[in-house]
Amino acid sequence: MNVLSVTPELFPLVKTGGLADVAGALPLALKEKGVAMRSLVPGYPVVTAAFRKKKAVLQYPKLFGAKASVYAAEAGGLDLFVLDAPHLFDRVGGPYGDAGGRDWPDNWRRFAALGQVGADIAGGAVAGYLPELVHAHDWQAAMTLAYMRYGKAVATPSLITVHNLAFQGQFAASIFAELGLPAEAMSLDGVEYYGGVGFLKAGLQAAWAITTVSPTYAQEIRTPAFGMGLDGLINMRAADLYGIVNGIDVELWNPATDGHLAATYSAKTLKVRAANRAAVEARFDLDRDGSPLLCVISRLTWQKGIDILVSILDQVVAAGARLAVLGAGDAGLEGALLAASARHHGRVGAVIGYDEALSHLMQGGCDAILIPSRFEPCGLTQLYGLRYGCVPVVARTGGLADTVIDANEAAVSAGVATGFQFAPDSGDALLHAVRRVVEAHAAPALWSTIQRQGMKADVSWDRSAGKYVELYRRLLSRRVSQS
Ligand code: ADP
Repeated sequence: MNVLSVTPELFPLVKTGGLADVAGALPLALKEKGVAMRSLVPGYPVVTAAFRKKKAVLQYPKLFGAKASVYAAEAGGLDLFVLDAPHLFDRVGGPYGDAGGRDWPDNWRRFAALGQVGADIAGGAVAGYLPELVHAHDWQAAMTLAYMRYGKAVATPSLITVHNLAFQGQFAASIFAELGLPAEAMSLDGVEYYGGVGFLKAGLQAAWAITTVSPTYAQEIRTPAFGMGLDGLINMRAADLYGIVNGIDVELWNPATDGHLAATYSAKTLKVRAANRAAVEARFDLDRDGSPLLCVISRLTWQKGIDILVSILDQVVAAGARLAVLGAGDAGLEGALLAASARHHGRVGAVIGYDEALSHLMQGGCDAILIPSRFEPCGLTQLYGLRYGCVPVVARTGGLADTVIDANEAAVSAGVATGFQFAPDSGDALLHAVRRVVEAHAAPALWSTIQRQGMKADVSWDRSAGKYVELYRRLLSRRVSQS
């Protein structure tokens, strides 16, 4: 089976979030299941710099303003099409904005171009390559499906994955004239969205099927509270809506081989984690008193519920826990965490910044990881926590609800508990969960059972890739039955 993936990010070449991990890991997992996935990615400087030989497979004398080409490339087992369009993508800064974090004003043009090219390839523009199905990721790739629908590849099955509904790619109606779509596309049933043009909306409308990254989030986005204005449309498409949880790279995240750890370990040698805990205590300047060491590894934002945690920090300390926070984000939250670490010296420590190595060490040494998100499409840090015996303590929402089994009495006696859940968006509920953690941690046999149970959970890509294949097959059979 030949599948074209269209994605604005791809690990390890370019990453700002979980989408990159999915787009990078899925093709490798699919390969073992007989699916050949090629990924179309924008030629940002970090991408084009990775390849020396560039043989164009497709040329555009003019693509949204200037000439562009597509070349085929291979990186770490990934087959790529790179959209080389310097006027759109060759810029200093991030994939979506300048170094100061301001969105590029022509993002609509940049990602309409990506979509146009994706649709052209789907329609057979590259000699010798014709995908049987197109899989697009998030609003940046969503226009692929709109261009397919109004173009040559209208009969090619398509799928859009929503990694976070909060990002929608909404633009002024005035851009429509430059998109090159037929006039009828500017309608409720096409790309029109609240009087403007909505890229994600257009993709959700045009896709044969929609997936998001957990079954619970797939249900949540059908409600006004989580639907971000798109719940009406998503409900209309409910019959074609699926939730498939992300996997993680179990080679990169393996406590038995992880080079970022002070000491490697397995479920059989959990005591060795003490060496990692000591390293975390030293790094965060924390007391060494054996009390439960909680951690947070997160963007510091409203979505992640960090303000809720900040509001009960004094009580968390009073409950007998210590806390190590690694994160960056809202200046107010960064300041509040630094202030708390000064106020509770030895009990709370904060490192502001992004530090991949330290994040591994924390998973390998802390007792539990707190994830108080208000919403969480899938979440990765709880999956790393499971794999590392760093017990996840999570808000019961989205992928967090789907991947962690609460240590209630029934689950504990059945031997299936892997963590703790609490009601989202509530400081009281979070504090109650922390108290449960402190209590459970004081019972070493119970605690290590929860750790080991978590370490047994299958968090690999294999299972999820199988679900994508199942869905691809279903869509292909629909095409056959339609023709
Ligand atoms: P989101 O994509 O919404 O930020 P996820 O839990 O899906 O949340 O993924 C976050 C990823 O970023 C994880 O791999 C996590 O370990 C990593 N991460 C977040 N903040 C930091 C940080 N300050 N330092 C290192 N890694 C971080």
